[in-house]
Amino acid sequence: MSSENGKETEKSIKGIRIRTVSYSMITLSIVLYFVLLYATSRVSKEYDVVVAATNDYIACDEQAALLAEGSNYLTEQIQLYVMTAKPEYVQNYFEEVNVTKRREHALKKLAHYNVHPETHRFLEEALGRSNRLMGREIYAIKLTALSQGADLQEFPEEVQKMPLSHGDKNLSPKELQEKAREMIFGTGYQDAKALIKSNISYFVNEAVRNTSKNQQDSFFKLNETITWSKICLSVLFLLNLITFAMIVLLIIKPLQLYINCIKDEKRLEIIGSYEFKYLALTYNDIYEVKASHEAMLRQRAEHDALTGLINRGAFEQMKQLFTTNPIRLALLIIDVDKFKSVNDTFGHEAGDLILIKVATALKESFRTGDYPARIGGDEFAVIVVDVDENGKEIIKAKVDKINNKLMHPTDGLPPVSLSVGGAFSKRGFIDELYACADRALYEVKENGRCGCRFYEDLEGQKP
Ligand code: GH3
Ligand code: MG
Repeated sequence: MSSENGKETEKSIKGIRIRTVSYSMITLSIVLYFVLLYATSRVSKEYDVVVAATNDYIACDEQAALLAEGSNYLTEQIQLYVMTAKPEYVQNYFEEVNVTKRREHALKKLAHYNVHPETHRFLEEALGRSNRLMGREIYAIKLTALSQGADLQEFPEEVQKMPLSHGDKNLSPKELQEKAREMIFGTGYQDAKALIKSNISYFVNEAVRNTSKNQQDSFFKLNETITWSKICLSVLFLLNLITFAMIVLLIIKPLQLYINCIKDEKRLEIIGSYEFKYLALTYNDIYEVKASHEAMLRQRAEHDALTGLINRGAFEQMKQLFTTNPIRLALLIIDVDKFKSVNDTFGHEAGDLILIKVATALKESFRTGDYPARIGGDEFAVIVVDVDENGKEIIKAKVDKINNKLMHPTDGLPPVSLSVGGAFSKRGFIDELYACADRALYEVKENGRCGCRFYEDLEGQKP
């Protein structure tokens, strides 16, 4: 294929290029890989957020419980003190207030929760109320201590410093005790506690609601990202299937087909990718050139250049073929009479033309299934297939017709005649067949030429 032809072929071929397919698949795979990588990192991030939100949720509940515990403990200790006046309850109370600080710690932690500022106001309110309630409780401690005539020096600083109202300074021990009990067990105390509790539970509910919302949002995002990851994975899987199908369709199938075509020495089918189609077209071009070259060489090797009939070599091969194929046939050996003198008188070129004319007459007179050949200078042969001695007359008639035509030329060439010797066989091209036909030819030559005789008709002769 010349470079110009090649360019034209390139333009005319329609097909998917393997290069384009592989580049597209690789690009798509890389993109999907990065999307998956991003999705995976998002999944782990969202997971962390879900975990943090869950922890927050749990911690918020814990702080609320601690707050309630601390607060109840203080109430319990103060109530026990007011009832029994045993100093260890005061000690327990202040231990909780100044050392354990459950209530204080819980409040501080809750203050850090991310809730609406309005909600924080409830916590601050609870804190204020709680501090005021503590003042009330310390006041009740002081009243109880005074009612018992206890030494205030032994009480914590907060109790000592707690100022007494003017009216309370003049109360009797019993009155002091009653007032203290009223302050701790009365409805005022219970109401204050209920308010603090409601403020805190409002705040905690809000915080828990907020945390739960964050958790749900993260769950939703997590699910969304996982769905995207699944889609990406499915597309990647699909891409793999498509790649496999493309490889089979564009590469493996044409390759198998091409291998078989080359084995069978056939032209390649134009299938598969652009590259394979190009390859097939190029191969077919080379195949055509080679085939016509081989046909030309075969023609030259098997045929006579002057007459176009099969030559002596091919005739010998034909003999072999009919030796192994035992059918009925006749062999004719034909020689041009006095051809030397034609050459001498009219020239070699005229002689050549006569040889061509003889060949044409033989080709036209015998059937296409018969095999006329030029086996020597002015010597020809015909293998007449599927014939027995009954065909003698037909053959003779054909020879007579040819001789008649050759002896009365209309083309300006000198008249000539043919001598023909024939022999029959029922078992293909038997060894002695040629000699028998040649013997019959000899008889014709000896008996005035221009005619046809068969070996079977010679006196006392049988093949
Ligand atoms: P006969 O009747 O006994 O056959 O006599 P003849 O003159 O034909 O004798 P023969 O068959 O022996 O002569 C063959 C001649 O054919 C000899 C040769 O000059 C001539 N010849 C052989 N090949 C060619 C050829 O290719 N072209 C031409 N023009 N003549 C050829
Ligand atoms: Mg001759």
